[in-house]
Amino acid sequence: MSILKDRLAKYTYADEVKAAGLYPYFREIGSNQDTEVIINGKKVLMFGSNSYLGLTNHPKVKEAAQKAIEKYGTGCAGSRFLNGTLDLHIELENKLAKFFKKDAALIFSTGFQTNLGVISCMTGRNDYIILDEFDHASIIDGTRLSFSKVIKYRHNDMSSLEAQLSKLPPEAVKMIVVDGIFSMEGDIVKLPQIVELAKKYSAEIIVDDAHAVGVIGENGSGTASHFGLTDDVDFIVGTFSKSLASLGGFVAADQVAIDYMKHHARALIFSASIPPSSAASALAALELMQTHPELMDKLWENTNYTISSLRTLGFEIGPTESPIIPIYVRDNEKTFQLTQYLVENGVFVNPVISPAVKSGDSLIRFSLMASHSHEQIDFALDKLVQARKKIGFGQEVEILAEK
Ligand code: PMP
Repeated sequence: MSILKDRLAKYTYADEVKAAGLYPYFREIGSNQDTEVIINGKKVLMFGSNSYLGLTNHPKVKEAAQKAIEKYGTGCAGSRFLNGTLDLHIELENKLAKFFKKDAALIFSTGFQTNLGVISCMTGRNDYIILDEFDHASIIDGTRLSFSKVIKYRHNDMSSLEAQLSKLPPEAVKMIVVDGIFSMEGDIVKLPQIVELAKKYSAEIIVDDAHAVGVIGENGSGTASHFGLTDDVDFIVGTFSKSLASLGGFVAADQVAIDYMKHHARALIFSASIPPSSAASALAALELMQTHPELMDKLWENTNYTISSLRTLGFEIGPTESPIIPIYVRDNEKTFQLTQYLVENGVFVNPVISPAVKSGDSLIRFSLMASHSHEQIDFALDKLVQARKKIGFGQEVEILAEK
């Protein structure tokens, strides 16, 4: 065996989980109708999706994609930089810029690539990138492609952020990069305090609003809008793969920054543009999001109902304030057992273990959509209670709640 294959063969964790019948990843989904999917021929309720507004099966979104295929074909076969810019991409960029109240926007192939491209090209060798310790993997990987020095502060801890900022040289560019809504914990970034600190120490701010678009802010326009701080956030990053029911990513910012990125963001220049069907479906979802505020209202109604039910039932769900609800299990094996029990009993959730969260913080990520009914939510809550009795996690919390 080669040295490499010998090393790879030593990675046995996934095999062990498979042998125990608990492997939760790469599950085959036969049909996806938003809140209901088919797995192994059986109907399962989807509580693991990021389609917060439930638009992936909306007739207008599907029709837009179909029409775009008819008009433009299935792919662009090239990067935005060269042969891959369609009028659809420009229309979407103009609408995104207007919606996020920035000069301009730029579309990348995914949200992940947006962070790689933006973060790696904005700052230089003598500059600093400052991260919340719970920032998304794509933000961390963006810093790995950058020549700047990287500093982390404790999650949402403003004294920790200030302690870091106060040490940095005044002449360096300082770029603070944060999630708007944290992807696993579901809490919202403390943006007003970050803006204050950014002003005090002359720092720039990037907010990754992957999970905030369609969820908070005016008509779903994200974290900066939610706090009334749009002019104080320099870069708004987002994705089409969640509320916008498609695939692709974007950044909205000042014209000068967008022009620079168009010629320096390698993840943009050297990668193919999103296909016409993806651009068209994102455009349709963006339009629906703005014209149907009742979607966001329903999402919040479902979110508040579920958060308060889970708290009443004594589940440990941390300080979430969004449709992303972490149900802490704090044990990897039990997290997999719980996931398996739920899927076998008709409820799809995502297990999350280290390194996606700190070790010891393993959890079930339960997420809501506007299209869930109370009946579906109650069904899932019931299965969670049954699973807890069977698997025995979080017992102390349950006993405390019942007293
Ligand atoms: N940023 C955050 C905060 C995310 O949660 C994700 C995806 N989970 C991304 C970026 C990447 O987005 P995409 O799926 O479009 O690559």
